[in-house]
Amino acid sequence: MVTAYLALGSNLDNPAQQVQAARLALGGILQTRLIAASSLYKSKPVDASGDDYVNAVVKIETKLNAYALLAEMQQLERQAGRALPADRVHLHNAPRTLDLDILLYGDARIESATLTVPHPRMWSRAFVLLPLHEIAPELVSAEQLAVLSAQVISRLN
Ligand code: AMP
Repeated sequence: MVTAYLALGSNLDNPAQQVQAARLALGGILQTRLIAASSLYKSKPVDASGDDYVNAVVKIETKLNAYALLAEMQQLERQAGRALPADRVHLHNAPRTLDLDILLYGDARIESATLTVPHPRMWSRAFVLLPLHEIAPELVSAEQLAVLSAQVISRLN
């Protein structure tokens, strides 16, 4: 069993409902169970226009390897109506029904064409670090949070 942390985000089609449904669906992935889920947070889009995002982070335990886990997550993204990965190049930062990222996968360091873990941008995003800090305070220092204090983000529930 590997402990992994996943980030969830949505800014289309009732984002709060999308993220809530995805929190549950992630726990339903094959050979995977949900250990903890953060509250929902609302944030402004980064480097993009559009509606506010709703974000959350979950902790899971899984027997899947990181690539199999990513494939299951992309299946959930597709079910939520998002474009296939191959079609995404021109959709960078476009509004999205559901975006799922692997933040941490045990202590693995992965750098391949399809997967980078730890997620390369996680330490610069308040909408990732705040919910991560809520469920795993030992992983995020006060200094790391303080650096991101200018980013507008509020807790929803
Ligand atoms: P995005 O549109 O930002 O969600 O990027 C999706 C693409 O990022 C997919 O094609 C993944 O293969 C790739 N990717 C690389 N690293 C990660 C990661 N840690 N979590 C999720 N997707 C990743």
